[in-house]
Amino acid sequence: MRKLNAISIDGAWTSPSGRGRFELTNPATEAPSGWVAVCDETDVDHAVRAARRTFDNGWAHAPKAARLSLLAALIEALELRRAALADAISDEIGAPIDFARSRQVDAGLDHLQETLRAAEQIDDDQAHPTDGPAHRVRFEPVGVAALITPWNWPLNQVALKLGAAIVAGCPVVLKPSELSSRTAVLVAEAMQDAERASQAPPGVFNLILGDGSTGAALVAHPDIDVVSFTGSTDVGRQIAVSAAQSFKRVTLELGGKSPNLLFEDCDLETAISQGLAHCFRNAGQSCNAASRMLVAREIYDDAVALAAQLADTFKVGPPEQPGDHLGPQVSHTQFERVQGLIETGVTEGARLVSGGPGRPDGITTGFYSRPTVFADVASKMRIFREEIFGPVLTMTPFETEEDGIALANDTDYGLAAYLQTGDPARADRVSRKLNAGMIQVNGSSRAPGAPFGGVKASGVGREAGIWGIRAFQDIKSISGAAAHDL
Ligand code: NAD
Repeated sequence: MRKLNAISIDGAWTSPSGRGRFELTNPATEAPSGWVAVCDETDVDHAVRAARRTFDNGWAHAPKAARLSLLAALIEALELRRAALADAISDEIGAPIDFARSRQVDAGLDHLQETLRAAEQIDDDQAHPTDGPAHRVRFEPVGVAALITPWNWPLNQVALKLGAAIVAGCPVVLKPSELSSRTAVLVAEAMQDAERASQAPPGVFNLILGDGSTGAALVAHPDIDVVSFTGSTDVGRQIAVSAAQSFKRVTLELGGKSPNLLFEDCDLETAISQGLAHCFRNAGQSCNAASRMLVAREIYDDAVALAAQLADTFKVGPPEQPGDHLGPQVSHTQFERVQGLIETGVTEGARLVSGGPGRPDGITTGFYSRPTVFADVASKMRIFREEIFGPVLTMTPFETEEDGIALANDTDYGLAAYLQTGDPARADRVSRKLNAGMIQVNGSSRAPGAPFGGVKASGVGREAGIWGIRAFQDIKSISGAAAHDL
């Protein structure tokens, strides 16, 4: 049984004053697995004050070299904890251990490396190109940052925010998901080591633990200047309303229902196998999952037959078992939600071609869902419109290119969109018309440091690379004073 009852303030572990507990359940066995402390307003205040002192006592003006050296030290400290991080992620969210090692941990460390590279390339002081060095723009840290993260990519989401805040010059208070706090505790250990190694002030990083009540208290704290949130659209909306009371800057990375357009000139086998993998990986629990497959009428029947056949080859199994199978949903709540929406798909009249309600054959406990494919899904159905956050693919035919684009954009969300075509001109034309923050063509991965984020109900702002760093900085215009080494 795990008891997560220590928070990190000013570089040291301390006990929270909040007496609340969030009970944890092992997603693979449904057995109780411990609890995590729920910090109260006093703990939030304690952490925010530590960050504020650090900012006011000099970190606001810390030289770039000091900020980059802290991030480099963090990467080194996390590298030493690779195995522990993979074990924690696998244990707390049920991610199969090989996936946790090769994708979850790698993704987090890659983001930190990309942020370091981006920070090396940009200048926080830019002379005006035509009016000379006395006319300049400075990028300065916004202030104390609240980082609130979800559970589905526990290291990745903390890394995207923390690396950018460090190099931007913002001290932080991190409030991770109550379901993935063990990963965050390892990050806090690494930050304590990194602060010592780089001689950064210890209050640059502070960790509190807890649920939504802790997160809400953090957002409402008057000494928070910027909130960077990743999570559900409903909570993002509450955060935007709360932050607006004192005009806090917000970055919101929210939900998605991303389309994957298959045109008649695509490589169908590759498109279907990559499309399924992109929808099902991490047990379907990725904000940018390609969960709505839209297929040109000419190839629709072949696409459905192939998807049904390939979906049946996806295996489900326990987190500790090596291999590339899918693990369980993270919690009972998520399992019930996924099961409920699969049943809704059946009652709404979609054609079930693989998987379906209930656990996979031979599995009686654990929050395991069956990899599921529905064909003939109409745009009015709930399974077409709602983020399911489970291994469930919907397939819908379209007649013309314009019809496909209209179906792709017929959603409240706008995080990612995928398209598969053999025609480069069409790839460009359709990419421009898709209403989403990130477009990926023919299975291309996002380039290192490319901006991550969405439009509409998928959020506000961008993370990663230069864009992620600027999200934690304000812009100051200086006229009549050239930069000097201070
Ligand atoms: P969630 O919104 O329930 O929780 C996210 C975090 O917010 C947790 O730390 C939680 O404790 C905290 N929280 C809850 N209520 C709060 C409140 N009122 N005020 C402040 N904080 C509060 O989301 P989740 O279930 O942890 O994660 C799944 C969701 O995250 C999905 O919708 C998914 O699409 C989204 N997500 C988005 C991205 C992206 O980059 N766009 C990435 C990953 C996940």
